Amino acid sequence: MIEYRVMEDNGEYRWFHIRYIVHFEKEWPRYVVILLRNTDSEHRKNDELRQKAERDSLTGLYNKGYVKELIQKALSVPETKKALLVLDMDGFKKINDNLGHLFGDAVISDMALTLTEVFSGADILGRVGGDEFVVCIREADDREQINALCEKLRNMLRRSFKYGDGKILNVSGSIGIVMSPEYGTQYDELFGYADTALYEAKQRGRDMHVFYTKEIQAGQRKKTEENEVMQERQALLANPVEFIFRMLYETGDARITVETLLALFAKYFMVQRVVIYQQKDGQWVCWFEWHAGDTLPVAVAHEGNVFACINANFQKGIYGNFSECPDTAKLEGSLAKLFSERNIHAFLHAGIMNGERRIGFVGFDDCRASRVWTKREHEVLKTFADVLGTFLMDQMRYDMVRKGYWHLQGILNAMLRKIWVTSTKDGKVLYMNAATRKELGAPENGDEKTCYKVVTDSNRPCIRCKFSKLRGDCPVGKRLKHEATAKNLTPFPVPWKGEPGGNLFIDDK
Ligand code: GH3
Ligand code: MG
Repeated sequence: MIEYRVMEDNGEYRWFHIRYIVHFEKEWPRYVVILLRNTDSEHRKNDELRQKAERDSLTGLYNKGYVKELIQKALSVPETKKALLVLDMDGFKKINDNLGHLFGDAVISDMALTLTEVFSGADILGRVGGDEFVVCIREADDREQINALCEKLRNMLRRSFKYGDGKILNVSGSIGIVMSPEYGTQYDELFGYADTALYEAKQRGRDMHVFYTKEIQAGQRKKTEENEVMQERQALLANPVEFIFRMLYETGDARITVETLLALFAKYFMVQRVVIYQQKDGQWVCWFEWHAGDTLPVAVAHEGNVFACINANFQKGIYGNFSECPDTAKLEGSLAKLFSERNIHAFLHAGIMNGERRIGFVGFDDCRASRVWTKREHEVLKTFADVLGTFLMDQMRYDMVRKGYWHLQGILNAMLRKIWVTSTKDGKVLYMNAATRKELGAPENGDEKTCYKVVTDSNRPCIRCKFSKLRGDCPVGKRLKHEATAKNLTPFPVPWKGEPGGNLFIDDK
């Protein structure tokens, strides 16, 4: 079977497909039958299909998938330096918006044509997005030559279009370039770097070409972080209460919220230490702290008279209950020296109030320099102190109990023994572990059965029920409960259908 093409008079090729059958007479061929089939249209169709899979329909350049394949192959050839360029039109959207999509298409096709004019046939060109193209220069030893090519291309891409009554639209091109193997040999990685350089070119004002360097990446990351911090800072300053509750909602955990907020405060207000103190059994304990790596932990920094000074200086002022100092060098007596030794140059702490009583405080230390605390800093800190006092502390306690409860439930359910809890009041079943529910069936909603009903299907307590003495109406049960409280055993609340139902005392005996 043979496939061949014939050139016709007009210079076009036509494909044929030949099969031949040789007829022998003894060992000698006698005649040959040749079957000739015109396969030209089939060939064209296959070509078209291949083209479709490889080419971008608007520009005829390689499409995103195929150009990646080709460039990856080229990048894998060792020894030669290559350059990967990502190009994007500046101001293209306005063309679409003002002159229509079809006109936009024409501009894209024109850009593709310009690329084929500027780059050599050996280079690989592809369209990877709307007005975004990629080029791989296979021999890129000469950086100056790449510079010259980019200049030339940008000169050709710089265009103005008139529309409406004399209005003008300007377009140009920005280019990001990365060198290979200097920054890698994998297409995806290099494309990311070239895209970073392209973004930099756009940031610097467009109509530019920029070579990728590590510094560019670091600079952009810093800018993004700074932007995020600025945005969050604005959100926090604009509506502190909403911000705090949104964070609580997003983290689902009061403790994490408080910790995250403390770290955010430190960042936003550029302080190096944030603390929360709470009064517990007549003692002041530091409940939470965040401090910058190069500063002292609160236990050392606030030890002794520093804490005493902060704690003794709470006053009711125009912003609320605060203890503050803009410059610790101006403190009286030996305090100035003490604060200076601990590197605390200014502090601002807000009282956490329960009515008129101060139950705690939260605040900042500036370990770098003295500073005047602004109105906004007072306001945000006060809001945080208020939310802490009225909500977060309770929420945190609740979270801890809840976590403990789920932990306990997990253990009880994993046990093979049957464990259940009956109400100390009337013997109703409040809790069954998995093993009990498996044997006796889980109690249904509203199906508040007593243990004797569940276990023995009887309407009376069992005569020799070991647990009857735990019930509140039994003198022994009352004594046990009293002993448990006296022994400081913490009764563990056992929720029943979401509500606190009874107490589970765990006693080793
Ligand atoms: P920038 O300088 O930031 O690149 O601004 P720009 O106006 O060029 O914006 P951008 O590159 O983000 O916009 C590309 C637009 O190209 C967005 C999309 O609507 C349009 N687009 C994508 N594919 C096609 C297409 O095939 N034809 C046309 N006409 N427009 C397309
Ligand atoms: Mg663009």
